[in-house]
Amino acid sequence: MKVSIDTDRCRGFGVCVSLCPEVFVLTDYGYSEVAVEEVPPGLEEAVAEAAEACPERAIECN
Ligand code: SF4
Repeated sequence: MKVSIDTDRCRGFGVCVSLCPEVFVLTDYGYSEVAVEEVPPGLEEAVAEAAEACPERAIECN
């Protein structure tokens, strides 16, 4: 599974970071970015949950 964040849509706050800190990290500016583009085994469900929970629909995973 691959994951990416549309940085134009991300508004920060870090919902994704709280749900899956192994994959999503907050930048110094308070926005989120992916630490790894290829989701490690066992974290697919957490990443899908984060994508679902993102209020801006900024997370794409497939
Ligand atoms: S949940 Fe969405 S809007 Fe919030 S930090 Fe993560 S990518 Fe950005």
